Amino acid sequence: MRLPKCWSCKHSYTYMEALRYLWSKECPKCGKRQHLTPQSNWKTMIPTGVILLLPGYFIRFYLEIGFLSYVYIGIGLFTIAMLATPFFFEFTNKRDTLMDS
Ligand SMILES: [Zn+2]
Repeated sequence: MRLPKCWSCKHSYTYMEALRYLWSKECPKCGKRQHLTPQSNWKTMIPTGVILLLPGYFIRFYLEIGFLSYVYIGIGLFTIAMLATPFFFEFTNKRDTLMDS
């Protein structure tokens, strides 16, 4: 588990700064725009997808829980997934689409 660095000024992100990337793409130090590398894009998406889809499916299938509890568990898992994403970020100056990887 490690936190990302700015591609331009090599500023090491703190956890809160990396989390801020979810809504602000600029480096907090030099203001240069950061793009996720294709690899880190996948690394961010796959765990999030697995965390969100798998337990939800199994909980729904094996436990007879109400829809509301299912929604609460889903929100909880989503929050955990969001809080874990900063550790998968890796920044580059190039804007790459997923198709480039
Ligand atoms: Zn920077």
